[in-house]
Amino acid sequence: MSFYERLGVRRVINAAGKMTALGGSAVSPEVASAMADAAQSHVELEELMIKAGKYMARLIGAEDAVPTTGAAAGIAISVAACIAGTDLGKISKLPQSSGKNRIVLMKGHAVNFGAPVASMIRLGGGVPVEVGEANSCGRAQIEDALTDDTAAFLYVKSHHAVQKGVVSLEECIDLAHKRGIPIIVDAAAEEDLKKYPAMGIDLTCFSGGKAILGPTSGLICGKAGLIAACRAQYQGIGRPMKVGKEAIVGLVSALEAYGGVSPERAAALLKKAEYIRDGLQGIPGLQVSIVQDEAGRAIYRTEVKVDESTAKVTAKQAIRLLEKGDPAVFTRNHYANVGIILVDPRPLRDGEEDVVVNRLREVFTRGE
Ligand SMILES: *Cc1c(COP(=O)(O)O)cnc(C)c1O
Repeated sequence: MSFYERLGVRRVINAAGKMTALGGSAVSPEVASAMADAAQSHVELEELMIKAGKYMARLIGAEDAVPTTGAAAGIAISVAACIAGTDLGKISKLPQSSGKNRIVLMKGHAVNFGAPVASMIRLGGGVPVEVGEANSCGRAQIEDALTDDTAAFLYVKSHHAVQKGVVSLEECIDLAHKRGIPIIVDAAAEEDLKKYPAMGIDLTCFSGGKAILGPTSGLICGKAGLIAACRAQYQGIGRPMKVGKEAIVGLVSALEAYGGVSPERAAALLKKAEYIRDGLQGIPGLQVSIVQDEAGRAIYRTEVKVDESTAKVTAKQAIRLLEKGDPAVFTRNHYANVGIILVDPRPLRDGEEDVVVNRLREVFTRGE
């Protein structure tokens, strides 16, 4: 019996994507075994932090890296590093800060990923300065917002962020660097890990439990001086974000195995999405097709469009039934209000696609 069963916790089939609420990634047997190994012996944590960071940086093509508990902690620690550097006097006072402590970001990037990005900035001692309007921001507005009090510019690369009417990352790098201001990128769920360091981003924050398929963890990679400053924050605001030896080793192990955005992987995901589409043919009121990720990544999902006048149940009713079942099936529901349910093939383990197809068929033919 699994530990979850012993606690009376239902089995979950995740067809939603990389969701923190569903426990992030389910790690591979190799990653799980590396973690079990690490958990059963002592190690000098600082040495592990430094050596794991350097090794990950080599894999990603950055100068240096530091493990974190996740991308959210990565933002807070990066902000703190840009404000306090390695100055232990300043570090010990954070999140209280004064002077050069403004963190500039576009208003369309001040999103909620499960918690507000702005809260992570404040946690690191920063004062968020949102530029532009919710759906529009121009170069001139950013130029105007970057002042002598600006400690860093934060760019959020995510499907949560506004995609149109904002200034491109390339231009933001140019604007920030022209004024000698470091740029932090929240790339929590991004698949191309090498892209941001190669662009000259000072600090990039990744989630270990999303694209990398590691345990609940994360990392910051970037310029050596700022990464040393990030490491120093563990003597201050970083302490309650302490990352354990098991998580560090699991993260490194997952990163070693990480295939990134290989064409083979994209093709395999597309095949899975098509398999699910084919399994859902002929259900009254449903139109099923394949759609690409809205942020343009090489991710394909099965889209189930519910015609609510002819389908047995509405999209929202179906979602409730799927989540209430045992096993519980979680789909991707950002467009449920317009009658669309998405099935994300990435987190499905082998065989689970059949369970998803069967449950969807049951719900839409029998209404239970
Ligand atoms: C998931 C996410 C985070 C938080 O990442 P964790 O690793 O869960 O801390 C931050 N920013 C964005 C854009 C995210 O999608």
